Amino acid sequence: MIDEGHLRCPFCDAYEVDRLYLASAHLDSCECRSCGARWDEDLETGAFRGRAARTPVITRD
Ligand SMILES: [Zn+2]
Repeated sequence: MIDEGHLRCPFCDAYEVDRLYLASAHLDSCECRSCGARWDEDLETGAFRGRAARTPVITRD
């Protein structure tokens, strides 16, 4: 039985993850309610895309 509504946190292994669908960025933005970690996942593959808190989206040329 797979409960897709409870994603496991890759940092603390808690099943306390909230997912936010970011349509504009084509990503799932995840936040762990247990340790506070935030990261992004690729919407199609579910691949880990890095910690949001340490990789600011806004960049300048
Ligand atoms: Zn966590």
